[in-house]
Amino acid sequence: MEKLMRWLAPRSAIGFVVRLLFLIALVAAANITFAMILNDRGLDRLGYSLAHAFFVGGPLIAFFLAVTVFQVRLQRQLWRLSRKDSLTGLNNRRTFLDLAAKLAADKNLGVLLLLDADWFKMINDTYGHRAGDICLKSIAYTLRRNVREEDVLGRIGGEEFAIYLRNTTPEQARVISERLTKPIPFRSDQYEHLTVTLSIGAAVSGDKVSLDEMFAKADSALYRAKLEGRARFIFWDEALQMGRMSVSA
Ligand code: GH3
Ligand code: MG
Ligand code: MG
Repeated sequence: MEKLMRWLAPRSAIGFVVRLLFLIALVAAANITFAMILNDRGLDRLGYSLAHAFFVGGPLIAFFLAVTVFQVRLQRQLWRLSRKDSLTGLNNRRTFLDLAAKLAADKNLGVLLLLDADWFKMINDTYGHRAGDICLKSIAYTLRRNVREEDVLGRIGGEEFAIYLRNTTPEQARVISERLTKPIPFRSDQYEHLTVTLSIGAAVSGDKVSLDEMFAKADSALYRAKLEGRARFIFWDEALQMGRMSVSA
């Protein structure tokens, strides 16, 4: 089908005309053959028209439908490739930013979580890249199971994920995040003895807080969570307070 599609899509106007003439000749040949076969069969006008519609029109319509199905499948595939992360099936960075920006702009209270796998490079270096990929898929699986339909989830970098929790208070976000800092088992028989943890930084939405600001805040909280030993969750407010404390000390 792909070869046929490529042949049907000429690169020049001349190519287009050549194909058009060829297809017209094909339809004419089908009509002539049909007429020669049916002419002396004594069909009335209606019978002849029906047979013509079925035997000459049918294949043409089938061909047209097949081309349409092929194109729509291709479109869906392209849409997926441009919007989703191919390894985990989660939203990719661009899609996440698009969706989260819309949520950040509305008036509801929301919380942005930035989640980063701990010691991920060591997993790759010790067990290989395949184990690393299984680890990322296992994280994606766990995140999916812990967010609601209305939340937005994405893989925004190598071993970095983000969640925009919609209509969520900081207390609710804390409960969800504490759960996500627990060790996540690898979903593979070969590596079932392995687990990975996440460090999480969070920031709350606000009337005049842009998504960029939320990202910067959540990122500094995440940095703090890494510094404090990983496998933990920190809200930006706390990180800020700790920053102040260390400055004044
Ligand atoms: P930390 O706890 O401080 O976050 O340390 P880390 O090792 O997790 O972080 P670091 O930034 O040092 O390493 C991230 C690694 O992720 C490096 C890169 O090779 C790997 N990586 C990025 N994308 C992929 C991927 O798609 N598959 C695999 N297997 N590895 C990836
Ligand atoms: Mg990272
Ligand atoms: Mg990491």
